Amino acid sequence: MRYLSTRDVRPAPATLAFDEVLLAGLAEDGGLYVPDELPALDPAALRGLAGLPYAELAARIVALFAGDSFAPGELARMTAGAYGAFRHAAVAPLVQLDERLWLLELFHGPTLAFKDLALQLVGLMFDSVLARRAEQVTIVGATSGDTGSAALAACRDRAALDIFILYPQGRISEVQRRQMTTLDAGNAYALAIEGNFDDCQDIVKALFADLALRRELNLSAVNSINFARIAAQIVYYFAAGLALGARAGASGRAVSFSVPTGNFGNVYAGHLARGLGLPIERLVIGTNANDSLARYLTSGAMTIAPVQPSLSPSMDIQIASNFERLLFELKARNGSAVVGALREFRETGTLPADDQAWRAARAQFSGHRVDDSTTLATISETYRYSGLLIDPHTAVAVAAARRELSRDEGGATPIVALASAHPAKFPDAVASATGIRPALPPALAEIYDKRERITVLRNDVAAVARFVRAHARRARPNQGAA
Ligand SMILES: *Cc1c(COP(=O)(O)O)cnc(C)c1O
Repeated sequence: MRYLSTRDVRPAPATLAFDEVLLAGLAEDGGLYVPDELPALDPAALRGLAGLPYAELAARIVALFAGDSFAPGELARMTAGAYGAFRHAAVAPLVQLDERLWLLELFHGPTLAFKDLALQLVGLMFDSVLARRAEQVTIVGATSGDTGSAALAACRDRAALDIFILYPQGRISEVQRRQMTTLDAGNAYALAIEGNFDDCQDIVKALFADLALRRELNLSAVNSINFARIAAQIVYYFAAGLALGARAGASGRAVSFSVPTGNFGNVYAGHLARGLGLPIERLVIGTNANDSLARYLTSGAMTIAPVQPSLSPSMDIQIASNFERLLFELKARNGSAVVGALREFRETGTLPADDQAWRAARAQFSGHRVDDSTTLATISETYRYSGLLIDPHTAVAVAAARRELSRDEGGATPIVALASAHPAKFPDAVASATGIRPALPPALAEIYDKRERITVLRNDVAAVARFVRAHARRARPNQGAA
């Protein structure tokens, strides 16, 4: 499989291999990489995947995308390493909520959120490809809380990587901070910046814009637009769909999914699972008050709106970067049409109307906006009906799934709501809805006993650059692997 950019305007777009896409992240033209074509799994191939242990299923699915970027056996070793350390033997267990509604728990990784499922594997892939090329990179990123800890946990102790994550001092929760500051790894640094999240992001942008520094440190990112993350996320759609008996063909059974959505990465992975042949009936997009995707699906108009803080902060996003991948398909895979539509979007704040594209999107996705009061009510109801505590992101998916089910009374297709974070990651919301403060799993509770290593830096690009230069192995080639 080869990859092309969603913004390649040439008649015969250039294509890259999986390992090149892994290291590049974003395309040079600003576009996102997508597969040139998807293989189709026939019913026999699907049957062959049913019942595999998660790590083996992951090796088989990701191999479809990785081509020959990894030697045979290497991918299986990496998936075993990535998922072997999860706290649940099923990695992503299914829990039944009622007759047709299931929960897929994606929070049994080291940082209690679904991003671990992609990043744990992607960290190993990065290290393997870099070691082969005898390269050393320095990863820098900004976090408003969650992604940072997942990225640090994925990159810690990797020989070819050093990672620096900037967070706004005093503006993330204690759990989030302790997850980053108690890591105790020689190559993973959490930096508290005296500023807000936007300041952190601006510093990261400025570091990348400094071409001399960028070259000196071989700067890189593991952000949510990296296609390798999407490939790893496709796996749990298969795991859940096959476990619920999804089978292709006329007599087959389909499954639907409800996805708590921010940047559209997770639900886009579901879309690709369907493209590979997994029988998925509906992909339901649950949004919080930042509902540009849900509004697009109901009205056909995609408009920019200011970001509003909500109880599900990892979904406080109005411009979903991965939506560009779907847009590319909706525009018949025409890079020029994507470039034109995005230019108008930037200039006017509205994506140009395209009735045909909108109809195609509505045929495959539903969207529901779930506000904070419904989120709290859903946490409380779920607890009363099932005894389960769910976090506010998961509650958005459950509420959206229930709305979808009420539209389809008498139907038989099960719907799987993705549980994207452990309730103990957002204890205040859970406690205000149920009166119960969820406890961290024992393996994580020790972050309260461990010593924190806190580095505070001024809100100043030069101060951060100095720190990174002083600690990155890439900057000290004699001591590093480079
Ligand atoms: C990142 C995140 C989301 C949103 O996922 P996208 O792929 O950005 O749509 C939802 N829930 C949690 C807990 C997250 O960390």
